[in-house]
Amino acid sequence: MVKGRVVTSLRNASTSATLPPSTPHITSRFPLAPLPNGMLLRSLLIAGISSKRLLLIPSLKILSFLAKPDRNFLLHVEKNPLIYGILKKTFYNQFCAGETGPETRRRVRQLKDLGLKGVILTYARETVFDHKTNKADVQGVDSGDITSSSAADLCPHLEEWRVGTLETVNLIEEGDILAVKLTGAGPKVTQAFAEGRPPPQRFLDAINEICAACKARSIQVIIDAESQHFQKGISAVTLDLMRKFNRDGSAVVYNTYQAYLKKTPSNIAEHLEAASKDGFTLGLKLVRGAYILSDDRSLIHDTKQDTDDAYNGIATGALTKQLGGFGGEGSKAFPSVNLFLASHNRESVIGANKLHQERIKNGLPTVPVGFGQLHGMSDEVSFSLLAEKDENQTSPDVYKCSTWGSMGECLAYLLRRAVENRDAVTRTTDEFTALKSEVWRRFKSTFGLST
Ligand SMILES: Cc1cc2nc3c(=O)[nH]c(=O)nc-3n(C[C@H](O)[C@H](O)[C@H](O)COP(=O)(O)OP(=O)(O)OC[C@H]3O[C@@H](n4cnc5c(N)ncnc54)[C@H](O)[C@@H]3O)c2cc1C
Repeated sequence: MVKGRVVTSLRNASTSATLPPSTPHITSRFPLAPLPNGMLLRSLLIAGISSKRLLLIPSLKILSFLAKPDRNFLLHVEKNPLIYGILKKTFYNQFCAGETGPETRRRVRQLKDLGLKGVILTYARETVFDHKTNKADVQGVDSGDITSSSAADLCPHLEEWRVGTLETVNLIEEGDILAVKLTGAGPKVTQAFAEGRPPPQRFLDAINEICAACKARSIQVIIDAESQHFQKGISAVTLDLMRKFNRDGSAVVYNTYQAYLKKTPSNIAEHLEAASKDGFTLGLKLVRGAYILSDDRSLIHDTKQDTDDAYNGIATGALTKQLGGFGGEGSKAFPSVNLFLASHNRESVIGANKLHQERIKNGLPTVPVGFGQLHGMSDEVSFSLLAEKDENQTSPDVYKCSTWGSMGECLAYLLRRAVENRDAVTRTTDEFTALKSEVWRRFKSTFGLST
């Protein structure tokens, strides 16, 4: 019943109010101008590798090989100084904030100085479940440690994750966002998620402590979506957190919804129902989904176009306040929703921002919206969005999302970024072209060459 309503509503939303096409000519002429030279050149190197399959495929194979736990000294990313040095100067510095507090703080400052609304920071530790091998790997932790700790009363992984996450809160400021991967809390928590049991009370106390610390400092919390093996448990915990912390008319806590999953519309409808019934704000962070390689493929839309349609349909539905059987004539009143669109897809984000601005200009109902791109990716999209000012000359709220943690902890994250670049050939080629043009523009202006 609920599912049927959602599908109808999304279909209506995507036909009656589809996202307007993006019009690149109205954005700044030089969107990459704010990038410092060092960042620009490193981005050029990474985009150069990513846009050439001949370079990217071997790089991906090497990264994937190194990301496996239990590598011996020679091939261990943190023990072999040569491998460490190469990875650190290239992939790590491109996509991650730092391995220590001071290094991370410097990078966060650098990102905020680019004119963004704020930074989303996350602690890298996570557990990735591979559907094909039926195996879970905690990144940055040897498997021997996991086995011995799961027998102990107190799980050291949970405590390390709690401390690491609270440390992350201290690396950001008011207006920034903390992103949390719940599977980083270790095997006791992930086993409970996988078996559909409630997670340990110590974990629930820890995540409540983290959210309370953030709320006290006006920092929002995004709970990331992860492997499907764990996602039901993650989503249930997050719903309870939203119910508790999103009581003042806006979202402190956001849940992440993966548009590539066939079941996401009905999941959103259930959460809208809960928000409506229990009177809290639904924090709706929308992504396409990053676990296509390791998750059960049958749960995911068959084609990229289907995922794109789902993403744009949900974004449009939220922005027009007609989604999941809520809003619109004869439907139940639309509950309080804060939308966060996390995407590098130019059409999706520029189109959504245009729709949002048009609705505000015409006095039509809409919801607050923020945008996020990953650190080291799609700077051209982030800066183009910033250039899309409304009639009061105010830019949309754009954030860059970065990850901090040791090289070992960040490897699974780095691997997902490389896979994404492999699969987004057109986007990486466009990025490479835009970066080359910016380097050439700076070269010409430095040497006084005419344009
Ligand atoms: C700020 C930020 C936070 C994020 N947080 C999360 C998170 O919490 N959890 C998470 O899972 N991901 C997260 N992601 C990653 C996200 O899910 C996407 O993998 C990534 O952003 C690429 O999608 P895109 O919207 O940028 O656009 P595009 O590059 O246009 O789309 C690529 C995506 O389309 C989908 N796709 C590709 N091929 C197919 C196919 N054949 N069939 C069906 N679908 C296909 C996949 O989801 C793929 O990642 C985040 C991304 C950002 C920018």
